Amino acid sequence: MEEKIRNKKIIQTSFIGILGNVALVAAKAFIGILTGSSSIISDAINNLSDALSSTVTIVGTKLSAKRPNKKHPFGYGRIEYLTATVVAALILFAGCSAVYESITSLVRGEKTSYDWVAFLIISIGIAAKLALGLFFRIRGKKLDSGAVKNSGTDALFDAALSAGTLIAALISHFANVYLEGYVGIFIGLFIIRSGFLAMRDSLSPILGDRIDDQLASEIKAQICAHPGVKGAYDLVVNNYGEGRSIGSIHIEVDDELTAREIFALEREIQAYMYQEHKILMTVGIYASNESDPLAKEIKTKLFNLVHQDKEILQCHGFYYDDERELVSFDLIIDFDAKRKQEDIAQDIVSALEKDYPKLRFIANLDQDFAA
Ligand SMILES: [Zn+2]
Repeated sequence: MEEKIRNKKIIQTSFIGILGNVALVAAKAFIGILTGSSSIISDAINNLSDALSSTVTIVGTKLSAKRPNKKHPFGYGRIEYLTATVVAALILFAGCSAVYESITSLVRGEKTSYDWVAFLIISIGIAAKLALGLFFRIRGKKLDSGAVKNSGTDALFDAALSAGTLIAALISHFANVYLEGYVGIFIGLFIIRSGFLAMRDSLSPILGDRIDDQLASEIKAQICAHPGVKGAYDLVVNNYGEGRSIGSIHIEVDDELTAREIFALEREIQAYMYQEHKILMTVGIYASNESDPLAKEIKTKLFNLVHQDKEILQCHGFYYDDERELVSFDLIIDFDAKRKQEDIAQDIVSALEKDYPKLRFIANLDQDFAA
């Protein structure tokens, strides 16, 4: 989907959320004051925070659409993750205030009085929140917007909170048992939980997520499908917001290829990656020369050594330079490895040096950025 259309839809969705919530706040505040129920008033406060979070989403979307410039050449796409974090904070706040309101109403031993109009309005409120929540969830998934999805989850919990309020109100009206406080605490804790989960989801891409394993394997397979590519390694993808990623990959090619041939291949892969995945890709080169018998022998020995060490995930980029009597290769070592990465690499180098004292060995340490 084009970014402009996506942003327009996010703003439109959020605007519907604001209108719906403002109407709910007015109706619930009115009923809350009339019946003297603090759980209905805290429900109204909760809806007010939803209207605020939709406003934050609109502001975030508008800001993230700003074009890249000299100061921020990667654009403003990541602002969306920040606004999703703010929405998560508002969910947390609403959860805490629901718990607080419910505890104070319990402590005060609050008595309430309802009539059928109150029940009707709370019921309409539940239906409206359910509809809003489902609408936000579906739109959020379609638009791949964390902020909109978070708002949808929030609205569904609000529907549950309002339903709890209604049930407690019915029980206190017909059976004279005041359950409102307990119901409010229980649901408030659930809201806090969803706030934490939403916070985790929105903060994670700011730190930098690992690219999805399946997508990484797909990208590598697609690149290997280009004639002349013997292997694809070291995929890195940095995400700067929806549809704006920058990355790099290393491809292995025969060392007999000319610059002209490599250049054509590189251009082809770059164009393909942008078209298919909207990734601006830099392509690095590994040369391979397995025709040399000594190279073959060393490589077999190296891979045997690597195979014995469970902490080494991958070895690639092997090259034997007979003129300089130099052998270089890359190692990817498990992030959870017990020993230091440098020590693991040194052990491999030392073992090879013992067998081939005349050669120099260089082990480059790559990181396990992608599957
Ligand atoms: Zn590498």
